[in-house]
Amino acid sequence: MKEDKCIFCRIANGEIPSATVYEDDQFRAILDMGPASKGHTLILPKEHFKDVCELKEAYASKVLSLGGRIGAAMKKSLGCSGFNLVQNNGESAGQTVFHFHLHVIPRYDGEAPIVTWKPGSPTQEELQETAKRIHAEL
Ligand code: AMP
Ligand code: ZN
Repeated sequence: MKEDKCIFCRIANGEIPSATVYEDDQFRAILDMGPASKGHTLILPKEHFKDVCELKEAYASKVLSLGGRIGAAMKKSLGCSGFNLVQNNGESAGQTVFHFHLHVIPRYDGEAPIVTWKPGSPTQEELQETAKRIHAEL
C-alpha cells in the first residue's frame, strides 16, 4: 500500500476527518467506525508502518503507555470496568488495515470476553521444541 493512498495515513494526518480522542506530534487516536463496544479507539501513528514488525522504536516505546492512558480515561469517562489492548498483524491474525494500529476496547460489566481461545494441551517436550524454534530466530 502506497502511503498516499493509505486510509489510516490520511486519517492520522488530518486529511480525512475523524472522531479524535487524542493527538500529539506522533499519534492520533480515533474512534473505530465499527466498534466492538462504546468508545472503541484506534491509536494510529502519523508515520506509515505496515505492522508491529516495522514500527520504529520511537513509536513502539510510547504506544503502550498511550493505550494505558486512554484505557484509564475510558474507565473514568465511560464507566467501563476494564479494557483490551488488541493489535493484529497479518491477515491470518485478523488485520484488515495494513497501517499499524493499537485497538483500545472498553469492556463493561456483564459482557463476554472478546479475546478467547480453546486452550490446547501440548506435552512438555512439544513446548520445549517450539520454544527452541522461536528462540533460534531471535
Ligand atoms: P484490524 O482488523 O485490526 O486491521 O482493524 C481495523 C479496524 O479499523 C476495524 O475495527 C475497522 O472497523 C476500523 N476502520 C476501518 N476503516 C476505518 C475508518 N475509516 N475509520 C474508523 N475506523 C475504521
Ligand atoms: Zn498508512
